[in-house]
Amino acid sequence: MKTPICNFCAKTGVLCPEDSRKLKSGQITDLDVECSVKLSKLAEKDKVLDKLTFVKALESDGDLILLFGGGNLKVLRSSQETLKKINEAFGRRVWVFEADASERKLLEEVFYPIRILTVNVVWLPDGSKLTKVILPYSRRVIEQVDENAVKRVLKTLKGIDVMIEYERRQTV
Ligand SMILES: [Zn+2]
Repeated sequence: MKTPICNFCAKTGVLCPEDSRKLKSGQITDLDVECSVKLSKLAEKDKVLDKLTFVKALESDGDLILLFGGGNLKVLRSSQETLKKINEAFGRRVWVFEADASERKLLEEVFYPIRILTVNVVWLPDGSKLTKVILPYSRRVIEQVDENAVKRVLKTLKGIDVMIEYERRQTV
């Protein structure tokens, strides 16, 4: 598995001069190092994870956000076992995204597997932007969406302020 630190460091958890320099300069964080080590360890026993690229980690009020390389999510989602192992290894809620995802893609991922009906951008009088996401109205959807957590994660990731609404759609 590829991580922001070299294989040796990811395996041992001890940083070489090159990776120490990255940490000191702020190019990577302690959390990136911690997650690189943990994920590499998991990847030794997980062929799916071993093929992926871990890019960066962020924290959102106790939750962990892991950013992977382009195209990685599809692979990861195909292995529920891998996702489960990741969640267990970190012992807290883990959100996974691709580091280079567009805003629209991030919205789709944060609500996965619920499908978004519409996304509207609303400009407020003070010039700030609000992203309005409309989800299908159903008890299952409402129960499944943790609105506060989703809002925090999107704010942490991209500074997106999101408003969530539910809409009943007539099925023809
Ligand atoms: Zn290193």
